[in-house]
Amino acid sequence: MKKLLFLLATVALVSACGSKTEEKKDAQTIAREIAGEILLKEYEPVSIFNVPVTNIDKAKYGVIDMHSHDYNDADPEKIAAWVKTMDECGIRHTHVMHCEWIGAPFEEAMAAYSKYPGRFSVWCSLDYTDIEAEDWEERAKAHLDRCKALGAFGIGEMVDKGLGDEYARPVKGTHIHLDHPKMQSVLEYAGKIGLPISIHVGEPIWMYEPIDNHNDGLMNGANWTVDTTVEGCYDYDGVMECFANAAKAHPNTYFIACHYLNMSHDWPRLGKILDECPNVYVDISARIGESATTPRATRRFMEKYADRIFYGTDNGTSADMYRFTFRILETDDEHIYQPDFGYHWAYSAFDLPDWLLRKIYYENAEKFIKKLSK
Ligand SMILES: [Zn+2]
Ligand SMILES: [Zn+2]
Repeated sequence: MKKLLFLLATVALVSACGSKTEEKKDAQTIAREIAGEILLKEYEPVSIFNVPVTNIDKAKYGVIDMHSHDYNDADPEKIAAWVKTMDECGIRHTHVMHCEWIGAPFEEAMAAYSKYPGRFSVWCSLDYTDIEAEDWEERAKAHLDRCKALGAFGIGEMVDKGLGDEYARPVKGTHIHLDHPKMQSVLEYAGKIGLPISIHVGEPIWMYEPIDNHNDGLMNGANWTVDTTVEGCYDYDGVMECFANAAKAHPNTYFIACHYLNMSHDWPRLGKILDECPNVYVDISARIGESATTPRATRRFMEKYADRIFYGTDNGTSADMYRFTFRILETDDEHIYQPDFGYHWAYSAFDLPDWLLRKIYYENAEKFIKKLSK
């Protein structure tokens, strides 16, 4: 406040008779003017709180990361560096996915990652080429057989934010949702041969809501908004209903709903889906920004659905990235800013008990892998 008093400024006003008079502004007026000009997108607060900051270099238990991607184009040197980082941070196994991994690219990736036995699992993608052709379902199943024989762990990451599996390559799965008639026998077959499906359904809810001054996630909503006015695009409820219906229709196929099914704003709703669909799991990847805003509610959800949650990152390969996830899961640190997540709010950590950490870090994944091989 003292500093502000020094900021007293003057403005020139033209008086009625044309001569200039000077009016002093008080510090409060100046402060309001400055604050009024700060844009939300430029807001970068620095915590004032003298509270614990706990750095965790290595996870408390050896971690299985169920959600990562090939950030290195399967480059041998970069994979070697990644393994080194994994060792330093306590990541003992990483599941690597790619939306373009069919045919030759998949085989090349499989060869590159297989050089580190036990450290990586590689997932494959669906090929939507000529999906309207009569033989597509048989071709898709034969493709899955080939991938399985080569060692694919599952199918993913599929995506449906409303317009279908748009991220798929070489052919986009535009308007191909899990309820597409041609997908039904393929989803069933995936379960039959033990390939789980990792799928990104929707996005955080504010990306579907009006971009206005009431939008709770405005800064990310503005950057990642989903335009549901496009013809054939499902809205948030539409993609969620589509997903739940598919999970119910194919109870022998396992689905991993990435990013807490993009439903971390409504734990009871997500819990209901998990109650109704025992074949559905969630991963926690790339949603610290959304879940660490409500640490106690998130922890209660994790305790209740302790057997259905996998650790995941989906956020590059840096040691700092891993370490931040450990800090959020393991410590009770509060009021943490992480501008990389794009939101304007601070985070607090979950302080998970050891039994729950073990489940999320590796026990659930290990049990899941055993289930698949039955
Ligand atoms: Zn995703
Ligand atoms: Zn991902």
